[in-house]
Amino acid sequence: MEKSIFTRIMDGEIPARVEYEDEQVIVIHDIAPKAPVHLLIIPRKPIATLMDVQAEDLPLIGHIHVVAQKLANQLGVKGFRLINNCGKEGGQEVFHIHYHFLAGFQEEK
Ligand code: ADP
Repeated sequence: MEKSIFTRIMDGEIPARVEYEDEQVIVIHDIAPKAPVHLLIIPRKPIATLMDVQAEDLPLIGHIHVVAQKLANQLGVKGFRLINNCGKEGGQEVFHIHYHFLAGFQEEK
């Protein structure tokens, strides 16, 4: 299978602005941000879409949510959107599962 653009970023073949990484995921800034904060939480495991997630991947999917909490704390945002586009009809363009972390839509009080 051909390497996805995200695997190429993880392998250091393409540059990216990394916000966070650990043994399971990498978090980068989206190249075309659709919000003041637009990050992509990407598992190192190259699962193509949410429909390909298996029972063995559930700890990883849970971990993504813990990473979202960490990012919110790290960036000091109180609210965010966590979005997965699944499949062509769902607007997915890169077939390596990832979650959009979007924040900063309005002034935090
Ligand atoms: P969509 O483009 O409809 O949001 P996806 O859910 O597959 O589709 O999201 C892919 C995301 O990856 C897009 O937001 C796009 O801007 C981002 N992206 C593509 N290439 C890069 C890159 N080299 N570095 C950072 N982000 C990228």
